[in-house]
Amino acid sequence: MAKMLLENVYKVYSGGVRAVSDFNLEIDDKEFVVFVGPSGCGKSTTLRMIAGLEEITAGNLYIDGVKVNDVEPKDRNIAMVFQNYALYPHMTVYKNMGFGLKLRKVPAAEIDKRVKNAAEILGISDLLERKPKALSGGQRQRVALGRAIVREPNVFLLDEPLSNLDAKLRVQMRSEIIKLHKRLATTFIYVTHDQTEAMTMGDRIVVMKDGYIQQTASPATLYEQPCNVFVATFLGSPQMNVFDAKLTSENGTLGISFGDGNAAVFGENKAKQLADLSQIGKTVIFGIRPENISLSDSGVSAVVDVVEHLGSETIVYTNVKGLENNIIVTIPTNHSIVAGMNVKLSFDMDAAHVFDKQTTRSVMGVPAFNKFACEIKDGVAYYCKKSWELPQSVRSRLFDFAERECVQMEMETDKISLERRENCLEIDGVVDFVSVGSDNVSVFAKVDGNDGYFVVRAKEGNFGKGDKISFFVPYGAITFKNTDGVRLISRETVSDNIGECAVSTANGKTKIKLGKATLEYDDMKVEDGKYLIKLKSDKIKFDYNKKYAKKNGVKVEKSKNSLAASAYDEDKLGGKNAVFVSVDGFKDYVTAVFDDEFSVYKMPSFTISLDADSFELIKPTTKEVAE
Ligand code: ADP
Repeated sequence: MAKMLLENVYKVYSGGVRAVSDFNLEIDDKEFVVFVGPSGCGKSTTLRMIAGLEEITAGNLYIDGVKVNDVEPKDRNIAMVFQNYALYPHMTVYKNMGFGLKLRKVPAAEIDKRVKNAAEILGISDLLERKPKALSGGQRQRVALGRAIVREPNVFLLDEPLSNLDAKLRVQMRSEIIKLHKRLATTFIYVTHDQTEAMTMGDRIVVMKDGYIQQTASPATLYEQPCNVFVATFLGSPQMNVFDAKLTSENGTLGISFGDGNAAVFGENKAKQLADLSQIGKTVIFGIRPENISLSDSGVSAVVDVVEHLGSETIVYTNVKGLENNIIVTIPTNHSIVAGMNVKLSFDMDAAHVFDKQTTRSVMGVPAFNKFACEIKDGVAYYCKKSWELPQSVRSRLFDFAERECVQMEMETDKISLERRENCLEIDGVVDFVSVGSDNVSVFAKVDGNDGYFVVRAKEGNFGKGDKISFFVPYGAITFKNTDGVRLISRETVSDNIGECAVSTANGKTKIKLGKATLEYDDMKVEDGKYLIKLKSDKIKFDYNKKYAKKNGVKVEKSKNSLAASAYDEDKLGGKNAVFVSVDGFKDYVTAVFDDEFSVYKMPSFTISLDADSFELIKPTTKEVAE
């Protein structure tokens, strides 16, 4: 049994490389999850944090409900299989497989049983007495898997295990690993940069880019309903055609115009799926997969550029007037299509995609976020004729500057449930229509007071027009943004910045001892003694470190009352940067708000300085100090 939960996980390597950001994922027992994305996107780092080989900078990792951030790798009951499987050359297969158990002092009879059992599962029983050099690449990889199996782990982590094998063997090992997963019935997490591996192996795929999860879904959902252009073009071969087009609406018919006077229109049902009506009249990114275009008698005029016959299908690269790139079409094998021919392309518009030009997010079909216009005042959010008194978990992450009239409330679509749950905002709607995918049903509902649709993906279910429906949005899946789409709510709790200090006055100077530092001010006219000190987040100043200042030609002025700070995280919010820093003398981190220019990732070490107006001294009761 192994359920896993990664909650707001971050990895920042020393030197400031931010490899993984805000990684949230729940993995079910016995699930086969694949992390996929281009090289450097943070897949291996995430896997290594799960294994315990890499420290988690921020966030939590739970295995079966137990937080394991600080649990030693050997105590996590996880086995990892790497790309470089490094077998011991002088040992036989049997010894290679049993070696780890021997180190753990497992009795010889038990080792024998487990090695033979694993060898049988992997079909290498007759190779047990061979040495690695007498094995093929595929056989060696099987031994490496065997070494993991004998440990009987709760979770298998596989990091590009097949990338050293040739193409044919890779395909074969792919299906063997799928079978192995079924047979062992344990949780598998598999890392690859190969989209075909991801699509064929995973129950669920996590698509990553630049350290962020882009989308987590089943292969079918990712393929049919990609949340943005990156996911749309990363999965599928040949990849989805994407090009700029203008979204038009004429006589109530939604369509696109593109290139030199080309146009296509959406059917009525598809047109209704446009979640963001403000896109009409704007340039959008239009996407259509090669298999959703056919050559026909009417449609968009094109000239065949290149033809590739792959046996079962033909790939046709065409030029359309006014478009820079080829439009690629895949059709059943057809040898009569040759370069230079004039053809007409017919788009299956029901299978087309529309993405916002700026954010590159999908705006037709199931959006990544459902949005409401909203106002926040005195800790209450007003949206769609309703008011919502923000719960502590939300309020504690809001700065004063988030309180304003024109705010967007964004709800992460994939976290919205149709079942009542705790710590959720309930939103009521009425079903208008549904769209049925290969493995889900998208429900489009109207919410009173909201112009567009509220959309969720349901695994299954019967929904009809007019049905009343309730959506449950976890508080953690709700963010507030300003009208420019900049987040206003922090991922971290905004700390109250209270620490302890000792105050003494002599010769007209007040000295404040805070941690190891002593700050000095003109006489503050306070009694000597112990105090609580509360820092005002927007009054704290930072000083550049020398190295950064020199490199960037910034003049450093030595501040008088400065304290060493080390950054824990930052969060860019509405033109400001909320920085979470450890400061000696404060138990919790300190939250400081600097301007947007500042980034702890550009300058991980710095000092903060405290002017006399940047803090308050609070005379505590003796009890509070004792605590
Ligand atoms: P992937 O597995 O997706 O190729 P990685 O997780 O290996 O990506 O790397 C993510 C980012 O972190 C990359 O920018 C990489 O250069 C950086 N990185 C990885 N390991 C280290 C390290 N030990 N120290 C500093 N940066 C690292």
